[in-house]
Amino acid sequence: MARQKQPATATAGTTFPAAETVDIAQLVEDLDAMLTRLRLGAIREQLDALLEEAARRELNLREALAWLCAAEVASKEQRRLSMAMTIAHFPFVRTLEGFEFEAQPSIDPSKIRDLATCRWVANGDNVVLLGPPGVGKTHLEVALGREAVARGYTVQFTTAMELLGSLVKGQQQGTLEVRLAQYSKPKLLIIDELGYLPLEPQAGHLFFQLISRRYEQGSVLISSNRPVEEWDEVFGDQVVAAAILDRLLHHSHVVTIRGDSYRLREKRRSGLFRPQAGGSSSSGIGGTPPPTPAKEA
Ligand code: ADP
Ligand code: MG
Repeated sequence: MARQKQPATATAGTTFPAAETVDIAQLVEDLDAMLTRLRLGAIREQLDALLEEAARRELNLREALAWLCAAEVASKEQRRLSMAMTIAHFPFVRTLEGFEFEAQPSIDPSKIRDLATCRWVANGDNVVLLGPPGVGKTHLEVALGREAVARGYTVQFTTAMELLGSLVKGQQQGTLEVRLAQYSKPKLLIIDELGYLPLEPQAGHLFFQLISRRYEQGSVLISSNRPVEEWDEVFGDQVVAAAILDRLLHHSHVVTIRGDSYRLREKRRSGLFRPQAGGSSSSGIGGTPPPTPAKEA
């Protein structure tokens, strides 16, 4: 609109003019601009359709206003959600509805549904997911992370490699403090795939610093293919590993998944992969005894 004139809305300290003196036709002409100014984009975009629907349902003025506001609130919530999902950096979309519990009998569905309420996030507790490759750890991390986002928590997904690589770099470049602060910010930090690849010697110390900083403040959801008894090997330092586990497991829920890789199961089903002779497990780690859980979910 080329016209610079402000719409006839009340400004601070002034009262709205008497209805008889208001130029309604002018107000209607200014409606788009007013909706923009009030940041009511959804009402502006869908105004005709919303008004038509209100008329069709014969809503009174108050009902119609509520109807318009509901459309705006829904749109803003949708925007917040999609923004928060983007910020979380999930590697893919996975949901709890898409998780086949029958395929992974070692998981208690009620335990996962309880975690999906995100009470543990509200309390600043941690969740540790353990199990061999392909059993759904990342799937569950993403699904639980999405539940947390939907409940309004800030979430960041990262891999152990990416996280520790960043902290090591921070230490070398004198930006460790900034990076620790960045990873301490989200209410829920998801750390995927600890133990898959060898870590740098100082990684354990840096990881300990992060876990200490988040301790009882924000939650960590971490997955590993190695039982916690082997984390001293993962970090290459028994003392550091014990200190990390002490804090991580203090208020925690440990979920140990045993069994076959879902990926290989799918392949086997389609006949691409022959089952191994003499055992159902597709990975040597599958039979590893479960670690001692700190507290069952
Ligand atoms: P992990 O992280 O334990 O190695 P993933 O979560 O990456 O395993 O699972 C591998 C693939 O199999 C993913 O695409 C995941 O969505 C799927 N998957 C694993 N377990 C299940 C399950 N129980 N139901 C549905 N999909 C599953
Ligand atoms: Mg994974």
